[in-house]
Amino acid sequence: MTDGMNCPGCGKDIGFMAMVKAPWTTRITCPHCRARLKYLGVRNFNIVLVTIAIAIGIPAGWFFVEFIYSGGWYFSLLILIVVLVIWWPIELAFSRYLRAKKRLALR
Ligand SMILES: [Zn+2]
Repeated sequence: MTDGMNCPGCGKDIGFMAMVKAPWTTRITCPHCRARLKYLGVRNFNIVLVTIAIAIGIPAGWFFVEFIYSGGWYFSLLILIVVLVIWWPIELAFSRYLRAKKRLALR
């Protein structure tokens, strides 16, 4: 069965971690059989993903550098933690969406 959860190569659930580890929606590796996978029909999804990443990344990066140069490295550390805390639920929500709505295919 080809769907958004199970690997089309071995039929096992790729799980959330395979998606967290994937650098991109079309560069996923099956943790069971090492098959290289991609999601189909995710062009609009990718645009939203990049837009959100930029919206978080640019201000976070700017403040990060700003605090390093002004000697407030602990604020920079705090920003890194805040970005991770903000990103984690977004990543989970996106993974849930892909698993529920999109289809996996072999690359
Ligand atoms: Zn597999």
